[in-house]
Amino acid sequence: MRIDSILKERRTLSFEVFPPKQEHDQDLSGIRRTLSALTAVSPDFVSVTYGAGGQNRPRALDIAEIVLSLAMTPLSHLTAVGYTQKDTERVTDALSGLGVENVLALRGDVPAEMKFPQDPWVDFRYALDLAEFIAPKRFCLGGAAYPEKHPESPDAAWDVEVMLRKERKGVSFFITQLFFDNAVFFKFRDKCREAGLRAPIIAGIMPIFKAQQIRRIVEISGCSVPEKLETILDRYGGNDAAMENAGSDYAASQITELWNGGVEGIHLYTMNKSRQVLDIVARSGLRR
Ligand code: FAD
Repeated sequence: MRIDSILKERRTLSFEVFPPKQEHDQDLSGIRRTLSALTAVSPDFVSVTYGAGGQNRPRALDIAEIVLSLAMTPLSHLTAVGYTQKDTERVTDALSGLGVENVLALRGDVPAEMKFPQDPWVDFRYALDLAEFIAPKRFCLGGAAYPEKHPESPDAAWDVEVMLRKERKGVSFFITQLFFDNAVFFKFRDKCREAGLRAPIIAGIMPIFKAQQIRRIVEISGCSVPEKLETILDRYGGNDAAMENAGSDYAASQITELWNGGVEGIHLYTMNKSRQVLDIVARSGLRR
């Protein structure tokens, strides 16, 4: 089903998974079990990430196929970096062949360890260029959004301008980068609406499983850490079980507050962990 159609009917709960490394899950039975467990809460869609440069492309397609086989709606991420129009055409043809109707059009980042034989921006410089190329292929298109500004953007207003341009090119919903401070999200959403953006903005929520993981993510994404979360990290950081419990509570209360604040969708970055994610959904009260 198309995500723009789903969003016209209801607010959504969705999940993100990533293709596990070959050596950790050679036959994809692990990710199949994860996805099968996640069907318990009937997610509105499941997104599958895509490695910039395409090293996990076949596995990303296989996972989209598994999502479909479990009667769920896939959202396939596609990145611009390192791709020619021809490569992209091959992937979109494969997605159409599988019956995938939704694509998240992204620029991607050049992985530090990766050397491209040619200019990585050969055909698409920005996500916008990729969205423009894919739009005639009749996919329902999503784009990324940054409540705390994309690290390369000059200011937050420019990010909103980029979202407006994406909307004009056919992007019909946005999923945000993770954030831990709901006030930041609500302010960002207001700015987007004031600027005239109409597409739904789905909140990306990263559950906290380990203190170390969060410190690393904060360093990479530059997102802010509210005092309440700082206290949790300091208090429980040395105890994995207690940290997971407190982190799940934090994510659940973030979700509940966003939902009560009228958010159009919640997208959970699952890190391929179904047990913890189902626990967070139950605690949030979003699904019984
Ligand atoms: P863009 O929209 O192209 O923006 C990138 C930068 O360029 C921004 O600073 C923007 O302001 C600027 N810009 C955009 N258009 C123009 C223009 N016309 N002129 C000048 N400047 C411009 N990465 C992956 O590799 N694989 C994934 O599966 C993946 N999934 C993601 C899912 C979500 C929900 C999010 C939020 C991010 C994801 N990423 C993924 C990371 C993403 O690829 C990076 O954040 C990347 O740096 C930016 O991607 P983008 O699509 O926002 O790029």
